Amino acid sequence: MTESRDVENGGDTPAGVGVLLDFVNTRAIEGNCEEQLVDASSTRQWLSDSVIPFDGSLVTEADVLVARELRSALLAILKEHVGLDERDEAEAATAYLSRAARLYPLAAVISRAGTVLEPIQDGVAGALASVIGAGVQASADPRVWQRVKACKNPKCYKGFYDRTKNTGGAYCSASCASQMSMRAYRSRKAEQAAHSA
Ligand SMILES: [Zn+2]
Repeated sequence: MTESRDVENGGDTPAGVGVLLDFVNTRAIEGNCEEQLVDASSTRQWLSDSVIPFDGSLVTEADVLVARELRSALLAILKEHVGLDERDEAEAATAYLSRAARLYPLAAVISRAGTVLEPIQDGVAGALASVIGAGVQASADPRVWQRVKACKNPKCYKGFYDRTKNTGGAYCSASCASQMSMRAYRSRKAEQAAHSA
């Protein structure tokens, strides 16, 4: 049986996961949430309201496109984690993330408390580097990383942290799980009807 539970329900999310999911979930989801990174001003607003360190400096329309590209690349990896094997998409995402890592570099600062990844640049570039840094943290432990997923409902694809015991969660919410099981039921019914006709 596949358990599904909402990401908000219970327990702390491991380091980096919260920021990563916040960023990935700025996408519009039909009937659920609106696009947060619409234009320069809404992107600036979102970054200022988020937990991502951001100095409030100028955001351009070009920055918005870059932020959305980074978001798509991260989402592609999260889709892979739930078995959505869109290989071309995942390969393009990996290439994009490799390029983004060079454009928005981080400095690893070692202290007694551990290592923190600090953006080298200011402004939007620094904020995007922080998102990449959150991805680095979230993916450092493979047991954590495989639980950072996109909802398997194609109408949703919301990023969520799978808290199921067997890492078998595929949906962000009970509502998405029931939508999909209803869909599967209907298509089985249709198939049966086609066979008996
Ligand atoms: Zn969902």
